[in-house]
Amino acid sequence: MNSPNPRTVYDVPVRGKRVLVRNDFNVPLDTAGNITDMTRISASLLTLEYLLAQGARVICSSHLGRPKGILKPGLSLQPVARQLSKLLNREVKFVGETVGKKVDKVKEALEPGEIMLLENLRYSAEEVENRDGFARKLARDIDVYVNDAFGACHRAHASIDRITRFVPQAVAGLLLKEEIEALSQALENPPAEYVVILGGVKVSDKIPVIRNLMSRARDILIGGAMAYTFLKARGIEVGQSRVEEEFFPLCRDLLDQSGRGSARIRLPLDHVAAQKIEPDITVRQVGEDETIPENMMGLDIGIRTADLYSQIISRAKMILWNGPVGVFEIDTFSGGTMEIARAVAETDAVTIIGGGDTAAAVQKAGVKQKMTHVSTGGGASLEFLAGKPLPGITALLSQED
Ligand code: ADP
Ligand code: MG
Repeated sequence: MNSPNPRTVYDVPVRGKRVLVRNDFNVPLDTAGNITDMTRISASLLTLEYLLAQGARVICSSHLGRPKGILKPGLSLQPVARQLSKLLNREVKFVGETVGKKVDKVKEALEPGEIMLLENLRYSAEEVENRDGFARKLARDIDVYVNDAFGACHRAHASIDRITRFVPQAVAGLLLKEEIEALSQALENPPAEYVVILGGVKVSDKIPVIRNLMSRARDILIGGAMAYTFLKARGIEVGQSRVEEEFFPLCRDLLDQSGRGSARIRLPLDHVAAQKIEPDITVRQVGEDETIPENMMGLDIGIRTADLYSQIISRAKMILWNGPVGVFEIDTFSGGTMEIARAVAETDAVTIIGGGDTAAAVQKAGVKQKMTHVSTGGGASLEFLAGKPLPGITALLSQED
C-alpha cells in the first residue's frame, strides 16, 4: 500500500492570495461552554503561522459539534476565534456567519497577513449534505484551498470534499500532511517487532482495523470492553461486561487466524471487576483461574495482563495504540491503562497514538510528550488505519489530476 501524497501549502504560491483553510476546531466544551482542551487549536498553528508569515490573506473554517443545520448558540466558534487570536498574538476577525454578503465583504477587505474565522460550518445543513451551492459560496474569491482538518477527512462534506471542485488550487495543510505520514508508518513496511494495542468500548469500531493489521503486526494486545466480546466468543463467562454478540463469529474468525502467519491476538488473563462504573465502588481482582462473577463487569485489565503486555511492548520497535484498556477516567480502573502508557513511553520504538480518549490517557499518565505522534483525529484515524480511503484526501488528489 502506498500512502497518499497530496501537494501541500509548500507547493503553491500563497503570498497575497486568499487562502481558505479548513481546520479541525471541533474542540471539547464543558457545560458552561468553555474549551477544555486546546490541542486542536494549537495543532492548527503550524499551517496558519506559515501562511501569515508568507503574507497570505487567511480565511479559517471549521465545524463544531453536531448542530444539524440549526443555529445553536452553544456551538458558535467565537470562543475559538478568541483563543486562536491569543495564540497567534494578532486579531482574528470573526463575522458570525459562514457564507453570504457580510462574510464576502470582510473576505474582500482582508489584507495580506490578516486572518478571519467563519462561523460553525454545520450551522448550514448544506455542509453535511455536501452541496455544490454551499461549496461554491465558500469558494467565492478563494485562490487556494487548504485542507488541514485531518479529524474531519473521513466525512464527504462540502468544506472537505465538494469545495475542491470550485477552487483553483487545493492542497494539504502541514498538520494533515504530518498525520498522513505518521499513520502511514503503521501500515507501510512496519518493522517485524510491531505491536498494536487496541482497547476502548466497541469491537464494531475496531474490527476493520484489526483485520487490516493482522498481516502487518506481530502482536495485537486487546484490552478495554472489546476484550469481553472476544472472551465471550470463546465461551468464557464475562458476567455483566459489555459484549456485542453480533460480532462473535468475526471474533472467532480472527482468533482462528491468530498466530498462523498473522499477528498473535492476546486477550486479558485477569481483570479488575465491579458491579458499577463508579469511583468509590468495591472492586474485585479476578485472577487467571477465575471468571468474572455473574453480577460484575470487567472494567480494567488485571496486574498479570498489564505485566505481560508491558513485556511484549518493551521489545517492540513500533507501537500503535488505539483505545484505553480500562475505564481510565476513574482512578480505580485506570491502573492497566497507566501501566501500558508508561511501558509505551519507556521504549525506543516509534509510538503512534490514535483516538481522542487514548490521547487523554497518555496525557493523564504524563507521557504525551514522549510519543512519536499523537493523532488529532479519532474516527478519521480509525478509518485510515482500516485502510479506507478518506474522502478529504481523495478530493485533494483528484483535484491534482
Ligand atoms: P479512543 O477515543 O481512544 O478511540 P474509545 O472511544 O474507543 O477510545 O474508548 C474509550 C472509552 O472506553 C473510555 O471512555 C473508557 O472508559 C472506555 N472503556 C475502556 N475499557 C472499558 C471497559 N472494560 N468497560 C467499559 N468501558 C471501557
Ligand atoms: Mg473515544
